[in-house]
Amino acid sequence: MTRFISVSDLSNHLAEEGVEPLLRRLTDYIEADFRRWPEFDKSARLASHSDVGVIELMPVSDAGRYAFKYVNGHPDNIAHNLSTVMAFGVLADVATGYPLLLSELTLTTAIRTAATSALAARYLARDDAKVMALIGNGCQSEFQAIAFHTLLGIERIQCFDVDPLATQKLLRNLKDFPGLEVVACSSAREAAQGVDVITTVTADKCLATILTADMLAPGVHVNAVGGDCPGKTELDKEVLLQASVFVEYEPQTRIEGDIQQLPADFPVTELWTLIAEGRHGRTCKDEITVFDSVGFALEDYSALRLLHELAVQDGLGGRIELVPQLADPKDLYALTKDGRSTRSLRKVA
Ligand code: NAD
Repeated sequence: MTRFISVSDLSNHLAEEGVEPLLRRLTDYIEADFRRWPEFDKSARLASHSDVGVIELMPVSDAGRYAFKYVNGHPDNIAHNLSTVMAFGVLADVATGYPLLLSELTLTTAIRTAATSALAARYLARDDAKVMALIGNGCQSEFQAIAFHTLLGIERIQCFDVDPLATQKLLRNLKDFPGLEVVACSSAREAAQGVDVITTVTADKCLATILTADMLAPGVHVNAVGGDCPGKTELDKEVLLQASVFVEYEPQTRIEGDIQQLPADFPVTELWTLIAEGRHGRTCKDEITVFDSVGFALEDYSALRLLHELAVQDGLGGRIELVPQLADPKDLYALTKDGRSTRSLRKVA
């Protein structure tokens, strides 16, 4: 039967183990999978837009495994006390087509997004980076803060959100996090002062201007996470024009990323090339770098691969009868009688 990891399964696991071990391990998995990028069958995700949000399907596969994620983005949901981003996904066996794992991916998306951000920053930020601005203090923000602290050595976070309650929640959640100082700022400009890294992770379905070029010090790395849909951006065009810009999968980011504001021949570099060549993307200490993150299916493939290992090796989650297990694979009709095909197979097993 298909393995199943629910929100409660993962939440209990994280409550026991902490977020950092999974974050570290997932970063290694994403790095390893990006290193073998050419082996994957890739496509831009399939997005279904409405006036208030988007629902997306994100497939990717290699010779052994196929993965997809269902994810939405509905910034106005908050007004109705509903989540902005929710996700689930499947890992399947290419040889037989059998689904191996059905898993929650909402919590996992926050962890994999933060892991990818920190991984990109390892290749792009200055080695001595210690202070980060965190603009947008919603669901993703704690995970971003923890990832940059754990994987990059960030010690101080200067945060800002148009909603002061979101910032208070972030401060409360990270109050006792060892080695991390988190301070509230009264504007994005104040948060961006004196920092080495700026993370923008806001949600608004419009061409927003969270960062302008005059807010950037030489040598800063910008981790732009919230601009991830057509008509939904965070960076002023000038920020991109002054920076070296790095992306996940160029065909998808041209449509969804902050670079949608620029001509199609604006030069960008895919992150995987740095990883595969083991080379730092920054060429000098004063260079401004931007990771124009939109979220790519391969990051979810890596996450599902890791979750499946945790299910098989450590017993995380349970099992679900998602597809029939027929005693006679030609007799699907037997299930319409009394489910005896499934029962007889269980007896055999
Ligand atoms: P959320 O709704 O929980 O939080 C978003 C926060 O942004 C809210 O607190 C809101 O008040 C704040 N905000 C909106 N406009 C702002 C502004 N002008 N200045 C400062 N703060 C502002 O959403 P979330 O789950 O944290 O997701 C944040 C964004 O990240 C979304 O846009 C989502 O689509 C995107 N996202 C991207 C990836 C990726 O891989 N790149 C993955 C997950 C989510």
